[in-house]
Amino acid sequence: MKRILIFIIFVITNSCSTNPYKTSNKTYKKQAKVYAKLLAEYPLKDSVTNSDYFVGTTNFNLRKPNFVILHHTAQNSCEQTLATFTTVKSQVSAHYLVCKDGTVHHLLNDYLRAWQAGLSKWGNATDINSLSIGIEIDNNGFEPFTEPQINSLLQLLDRLKKAYNIPTANFIGHADIAPGRKVDPNRYFPWQKLAENGFGFWYDTSGVAVPTNFDAMQALRVVGYDITKPEAAIQSFKLHFVQADSTKTINDEDRRILFELEKKYQ
Ligand SMILES: [Zn+2]
Repeated sequence: MKRILIFIIFVITNSCSTNPYKTSNKTYKKQAKVYAKLLAEYPLKDSVTNSDYFVGTTNFNLRKPNFVILHHTAQNSCEQTLATFTTVKSQVSAHYLVCKDGTVHHLLNDYLRAWQAGLSKWGNATDINSLSIGIEIDNNGFEPFTEPQINSLLQLLDRLKKAYNIPTANFIGHADIAPGRKVDPNRYFPWQKLAENGFGFWYDTSGVAVPTNFDAMQALRVVGYDITKPEAAIQSFKLHFVQADSTKTINDEDRRILFELEKKYQ
C-alpha cells in the first residue's frame, strides 16, 4: 500500500515538473490576481471624484463579450501556437485554441481581454478585443479544417452564444474586421455550415431581383465592413461569403448576395 502511495506521489510530482506551461500558468495566476484586486477596490478612488463621496451601488455584474472572432493560426501545430501564446515576446493571445483532433484549449477567462483582433473595425466598433472572444483554429492557412475541429468549434460556439447572449450576426472572421491586413480564416472555412447552426448569416439569391439604384458598397458597410479601402473590403467579403471567387470586383451575383445580406445584418 505504502509503495503504491509513493508511486502515485512520484507520478503526480513528475507530471507537474514536466508540464511545459508551468511557468506561464504561474504568470497567468499572478496576472489574474492583479485584475481581481482591481475589481475589488473599495472605496473607489480616481482623480476626478473624492472617495469620501463614494457610494457603492447594489446593482451590477461583469461586462460580457458580444462578438466572437474566428482565426486560423497560420502555424504548423497546436504545440507551436501554445508556445506562441505563452511567450511574452509574441504579445498575442486568444481565449481558445481548437486543435486538428478536436481538442479545445481554454487559455483565458472569457471576461478578460485577449490580444487577438489588433487594429480592426466592424460597423462603428473599433476596440474589438474589448468586445470579443477570440478563437484560434489550428491551420497553416492553406488547408481545409478537420471534421473534429469543426464539431468541437460548433459545440464551443453554442456554449458561448448561450452564456453571453451573443447575437447571430456577431460571429465573424479576423479578415472581416481587418480588410487588407488579415486573411483568416482561409477560404476553406465552412461559414455556410456555421450560419446553418446559428452563427452568422447566409443568403439565398434564387429569384432575387436587385433594384437598379442598389449601392453594393453601402450594403457592404451596412453588413459591417470597413469600406475605406474598397478592394480590400470586397476581398474580405468574398473570403467569407463567395469563397470560390478571389477577384476584388463586385459582379451581378455579388450584388444579389449583398442585397440579401444587407437585410439580415442591418
Ligand atoms: Zn487572426
